[in-house]
Parts: sequence; C-alpha cells; structure tokens
Amino acid sequence: MKVGFIGVGNMGGPMCRNIIKRSNHQVTVFDLNPAAVKTCTDLGGTAATSIAEVTRGADVVMTSLPMPKDVEAVTLGDGGILANIAKGQTYIDLSTNAPSMVKKIGGAMAAKGIAMLDAPVSGGTVGAEAATIAIMVGGDKKVFDDALPVLQSFSANVIHMGELGTGTVAKLVNNMMAFCNAAAASEGMMLGVTAGLDPTKLAQVIASSSGNSAVFKSFSERALSGQFSPPSFALNLAHKDLHLAMELADELDVPLPLGSATHNLQRMARKMGMGNADSSTVLAVYEKVLGKTVKP
Ligand code: NAD
Repeated sequence: MKVGFIGVGNMGGPMCRNIIKRSNHQVTVFDLNPAAVKTCTDLGGTAATSIAEVTRGADVVMTSLPMPKDVEAVTLGDGGILANIAKGQTYIDLSTNAPSMVKKIGGAMAAKGIAMLDAPVSGGTVGAEAATIAIMVGGDKKVFDDALPVLQSFSANVIHMGELGTGTVAKLVNNMMAFCNAAAASEGMMLGVTAGLDPTKLAQVIASSSGNSAVFKSFSERALSGQFSPPSFALNLAHKDLHLAMELADELDVPLPLGSATHNLQRMARKMGMGNADSSTVLAVYEKVLGKTVKP
C-alpha cells in the first residue's frame, strides 16, 4: 500500500520508521521539522514538501500530531488533507485527540465520501520503537479490516473498539489512569524519602510489590536519575490528555476526583516551567514543596 505519514516526532517517528523497516508499504513523510523527516528518509521513506503531496495518491494518510487544533489545521485547514484526499483513500488519526474533534473531522471526511479511523496509541516511545504499542481503533469495521495491514506493520496489538471516536475515549481513560499512577508514585516516593528511606531500595521494593504499575518503571528511572529532559512524553501533552478526559467527564456528568487532583498537579508543574519536560516531572511539585529531591 501507499502510506502518507504526517507528524514524525517522538511517537510518529518510530511508528513511521517501523512501517518502512517492517513492511513493503511505500511511505511518504511530511513534518515541519526536516530533521525528523530525515530519520525516516534515511531508512527508505520519501520526503514530501506539503500536506497535499503526502496526501495525493496515498491509499492511507496518517497523522500523529500534538494537539486537537494541530489535527484540525492539518485535516480541515487550507491546503489540508480534506482538500487533497479523494474517494477510496482512508484517513487515520494516531494522535490523542478530542472525541468531539474526531467526530467533527470524521463528519467533514464522510461528506466527501472519505472513511476515517481514530487510532490513538499507548506504550510510549519505548513501545513505539519496539512495535508493541496498543493501537485502539474507532470507525467502520470494514475500513478497519482494510487498514489492518498498515496498522499491524507498526504493532500486532491492534484493538477495534467500536464506532468512530471510541478509540479516543479508550485512550483518554487509559492516560488518566496512568497519570494518576504517576502522581501516586511521586507522593509515595517523597513520603518514603522524607522518612529516611533509601530511594533506590524503595523503588526496588515497589517494583515487586502491590504499589507497582506500568508507569512506575519509567517514572522511577526518571526520578532516581533526576533526568526529566528531553521528554519521552511532554508534560504539556499529558496535561492536554487529562484536560480532554475532564471535558468528556463534564459532558457525561461523571465525577473524576482523582483525575482532577492529578490535572491540578500537572498544572502546578507547568507553572513551575516544566511543560516541555517529561510528564513524570509532576514529582518536581513535591520536591519544591519539601525542598529535597528523590535523586540519591
Ligand atoms: P511530538 O511533539 O514529539 O511530535 C509531533 C510532531 O508533529 C513534531 O515532529 C512536529 O514538528 C510535527 N508537527 C506539528 N504540527 C505540524 C504540522 N502542522 N504539519 C506537520 N507536522 C507537524 O509529539 P509526540 O510525543 O510524538 O505526540 C504526538 C501525538 O501522540 C500526541 O497527540 C500525543 O498526545 C500522542 N502520544 C504521545 C506519546 C508519547 O509517549 N510521546 C504516547 C502516546 C500518544
């Protein structure tokens, strides 16, 4: 198949490179950052100079972009995907987007006879590199089945959740739980360290105890080394995800006391200037308040 890929940053980059390395699909790449494009063309992808060029002639066009407004601009904006895509082509958004924005873009695509899937991913940059990420997909089942050969070229772990938008809802739920875990890990580590425990031993105990979580491994590696930059997953993006989960909860009138506490913690870390650091930097709020670091 011919694949057009737009947005090859921390997540899009490894996903795109895996398509190039692990399949025979022909991949064309576009990103505002030429260095990011080069990491894909070095492996055999073709660089495009515009969204139009990446879109025209591709069987599947994919985006992995930071914010809902970026996806909106790239799809519905002047010279965007919608203006250049034709019937028979499929559009897949891999970004963590707002369910309402997914529906808006899906509606505009449908009016032109274009099928869309929302297919956000989870597993971080490590999972994206290793091709083990979860890909949670919303959209028509036949369109999903037809797109599987492309999706499976960057992970075998593909789940069809239901109609358009359901992949995004699953992703927001997952990330809210992951961020609450990171907040709990920050609190627990700071309590233990303040009580005089050795942080390395405490992290070792938690890793094999009931306080462990998928988030804890990467969190403790960052916390123990004090390395929060460059980000694997930027706090600004994590804050966006939790904001989208809170918006969904407002729409549905579902209480999220843990989610909102964690969202405020993220906001405090952003106000401390940590927005571009890794999302695990919520720990910095506790470190600032207590005047000490977890780092031994
Ligand atoms: P990133 O900032 O590293 O990458 C985004 C890329 O998009 C950049 O290379 C940027 O130059 C490019 N871009 C932005 N606007 C563009 C435009 N108008 N045209 C072309 N290219 C443009 O972000 P990321 O961490 O790769 O995240 C991408 C998406 O994946 C986000 O929605 C994020 O929430 C989600 N996500 C990230 C992670 C993670 O661990 N980093 C995990 C799961 C999901």
